[in-house]
Amino acid sequence: MNELSTAITPVVIPRAAHTISRSEISPNALKVLYRLKEAGYQAFLVGGAVRDLLLGVRPKDFDVATNALPEEVRALFRNCRLIGRRFRLAHVHFGSEIIEVATFRAAAAPEREDALDPEAEPGAPVDDEDRAIDTRGRILRDNVYGTIAEDVWRRDFAANALYYNIEDFSVWDFVGGVADIEARRLRMIGDPDARYREDPVRMLRAVRFAAKLDFSIDPPSEEPIRRLAHLLDGVPAARLFDETLKLFLSGYGARSYLLLRRYGLFEHMFPLAAAAFSRPPYAYAEQMLDQGLRNTDERIAADKAVTPTFLFALLLWGAVLREMNERNAGPAPDVAQLLDACDAVLKAQQSRVSIPRRFSVPMRELLMLQPRFNRRTGVKSLGLLHHPRFRAAYDFLMLRVQVGAADREIADWWTEIQLLPQEERILKVQARGAPAGAEGAPPTGRRRRGRGRRGGSAPAAP
Ligand code: ATP
Ligand code: MG
Repeated sequence: MNELSTAITPVVIPRAAHTISRSEISPNALKVLYRLKEAGYQAFLVGGAVRDLLLGVRPKDFDVATNALPEEVRALFRNCRLIGRRFRLAHVHFGSEIIEVATFRAAAAPEREDALDPEAEPGAPVDDEDRAIDTRGRILRDNVYGTIAEDVWRRDFAANALYYNIEDFSVWDFVGGVADIEARRLRMIGDPDARYREDPVRMLRAVRFAAKLDFSIDPPSEEPIRRLAHLLDGVPAARLFDETLKLFLSGYGARSYLLLRRYGLFEHMFPLAAAAFSRPPYAYAEQMLDQGLRNTDERIAADKAVTPTFLFALLLWGAVLREMNERNAGPAPDVAQLLDACDAVLKAQQSRVSIPRRFSVPMRELLMLQPRFNRRTGVKSLGLLHHPRFRAAYDFLMLRVQVGAADREIADWWTEIQLLPQEERILKVQARGAPAGAEGAPPTGRRRRGRGRRGGSAPAAP
């Protein structure tokens, strides 16, 4: 039903009629644009950069679109690499900044190689040599370059489909993108239902941009999301990992989470977490996630570092506790049981949103340290302070305290002792007396405190 896809001419907004100034464009992106132009090609700044510049926001990155073929782009830049096998993109490197240069494409195509479903049935209906669409309407491969008037139709939202022309500094608007930016609206180009089916990640992008830009989703673009949320199940887990980081670690994580829940998307990314959050004894883990995401957003606003390790700990803690308690009837789950539960949750999680080992291994350590905070007697207990994951685990403990799931007294102890010189730390633990009972036994058994505001019996928590 894409009656619009017959190419048209754009509305051209001359330099004098818009606010984009070259002084706000990355000098490296300008270099790329000018060099393409001087070589006789068309060259445009596209996508989020144009959108953000019109909004007066500093763009995250600068993407370029051109009629030069990838090999032709490479021939112009020494510092250029072609990536992708079937959909080749040129990356022009300037130190840590990469300017992505894409050749205009004729038809809708996945944005990334791994958007292709590795498990797509081999018998998928094929249109022609260069194009294949699977039975659910997802594009499997596409290899056709085209003109700018064709390129515009593969883009997701009209607000993301503006082109800034380096030739005369005008903005080309084929689909009413400028009006959408003024109205702060996300409107899918073409038939929303079909575009989400082609690439379900567009539903996550709708949420991400709505959260980041404080845009509303145009009702016809919003309506299919809840209904099609399950299509995320067919998206490769590695791609969803990347999207998860963009959703939660770009400064608008708390808002993104609320929207993911509103549209039923989160359930398809972190099903075990969603299930745990809806059981009263584990609901506090969702409060921790919410608070943790707010803290993360503040850290990003203050230009401080954030880590996927902590994020995944927050996302999965409820699921890990639930798994642990459902496996053990015993009174006091120990660290080994916690780790077993953690491994089971991680294993199940990998098929939805994969978590690379460089994050899952430290995440496991962070969670494993939680029960160790309970132990505050004996000089050995001080070893915790030197654990490489101490700082993150302590921050996590503070969140548990904040939602009423751990004793403030325990957190205060670790807060104070961190600040003391080693000799005073030793005096302080000695003053608490010898370790109670056998070596390594946690001082408390099954906790009955901190059941939070939502009632229900408290889960056994370390
Ligand atoms: P930001 O970089 O601020 O996160 P962006 O809009 O630039 O946002 P990118 O992922 O950098 O997003 O993509 C650049 C452009 O490519 C988008 O603006 C959009 O036009 C197009 N695009 C990216 N991903 C998709 C997709 N999955 N479907 C359709 N178009 C897409
Ligand atoms: Mg971008």
